[in-house]
Amino acid sequence: MGVIRVGVLGFGGLGQAAAMVLHPKQEMQLVAVADRGGWAYRADGLPLHELLSAVKERGTVAALPEWGHTDSDGIAQVMTQAVDGFFLALPNLPNTFMARVAQQFIRQGWQGVLVDAIKRTSAVEQLLLLHPALQQTGITYLTGCGATPGLLTAAAVLASQSFAEVLTVKITFGVGIASWEQYRSTIREDIGHLPDYTLEQARAMSDAEVEQLLARTGGLLHLENMEHADDILLERLGICSRDQVTVGGVVDTRNPKKPLSTNVQVTGRTFEGRTATHTFTLGDETSMAANVCGPAFGYLKAGVALQRRGSYGLFTSAEVMPGFVR
Ligand code: NAD
Repeated sequence: MGVIRVGVLGFGGLGQAAAMVLHPKQEMQLVAVADRGGWAYRADGLPLHELLSAVKERGTVAALPEWGHTDSDGIAQVMTQAVDGFFLALPNLPNTFMARVAQQFIRQGWQGVLVDAIKRTSAVEQLLLLHPALQQTGITYLTGCGATPGLLTAAAVLASQSFAEVLTVKITFGVGIASWEQYRSTIREDIGHLPDYTLEQARAMSDAEVEQLLARTGGLLHLENMEHADDILLERLGICSRDQVTVGGVVDTRNPKKPLSTNVQVTGRTFEGRTATHTFTLGDETSMAANVCGPAFGYLKAGVALQRRGSYGLFTSAEVMPGFVR
C-alpha cells in the first residue's frame, strides 16, 4: 500500500484535530480539505501550520495562501482532485445531510473510500439504503467510525464473543472540552438529544441561545437514552436487538477534564448459564478528538484495503476491524 492520499471534509473541531492526527503519519497524507467557505488541495500534502492559522484567522480553509479557493460548494471541487479517501468530519445537520453528501459522490461517479463519524440511527438507516448505488459506483463507504458509534461499538462486538446470548450493551460517555465553540456542531447535535429539544430546534438555535442554555446548566449536558446508531450496527450483526442497547453520557463544555470515564459494558450469558459483564473503559486522558479521529483513520485504512480488493458498498464500524495507521 503506497501513501494514502486523504481528504477531510468539514474543518471545524474534528476536522482540525484530524489534520493534526494525520500530520506525523507515514502511511497517510492530508492533501485536500473543504469547509463551508471553500476548499484547498495540494498533491504533495497541505502545510498543517499554515492551514490551521488560515482557519484561525479567517475562519475557512479557503484562506490558505497559494492552495486555498473560495467556493460555495468546496465538496464538489475536492472530489475532482486525486484523493484516495475522505473523512467526512461534517455536521449532520439536517439529519439527511450526510446521505446527501454520499449521493453527491455517487452522482459524480467518484471511486474511493468514504468514512463518517455519524451518530444517529436514522442517519445510518438512510446510508444503508445507498448500499447498491455505492457498490455500483465503486465507493467503499464505512459508517459510524467515530468513538460512539465506532470504537465502543467495535469493542462491544469483541466483548460479545464470550457469550451465548448478549443481554445488554450499555455505552456511557464522558466528554470534556474547554469551550463549546470548539465543537459547535457536536454540541448542537447533542442538544438535539435533550428531552425538550428536536434536532431541528437545536440546529436553528443562535449561538447566544446555545450559550444561554449552557449558562443554565453550568456548561453541562446530561444525555440519556440517545438515538445512537450503535444499536442498529449491533442488531445488523445479530448480536442483540436494538432495544437492548443504551447510550448516554455527560458533556462538560467548560472543562477539558472528562466528567466521567467513557466505557461500554456488555452483559451476557455464557454457554454454561453464567451471567457476566465485560467492561471496556477508555483512558481519561484521551480526548473526544483522539477517540474519534484515530478510529476514523483506522477504518479509512481498512476501507482502502477493501477497495483494493474490489469490495464496494456500505460497511459499518461493527463489521470491519480498523487498521492502525503508522
Ligand atoms: P464543527 O461545527 O466544529 O465543524 C463543522 C465543519 O463543517 C465546519 O468547518 C463547516 O464549515 C463545515 N461545513 C458545514 N457545512 C458544510 C458544507 N455544506 N460543505 C462543506 N463544509 C461544511 O463540527 P464538529 O463539532 O467538528 O462535528 C463534526 C461532526 O462530528 C458532527 O456531526 C458530530 O456529531 C460528529 N461527531 C461524532 C462523534 C462520534 O463519536 N461518532 C464524536 C464527536 C463528533
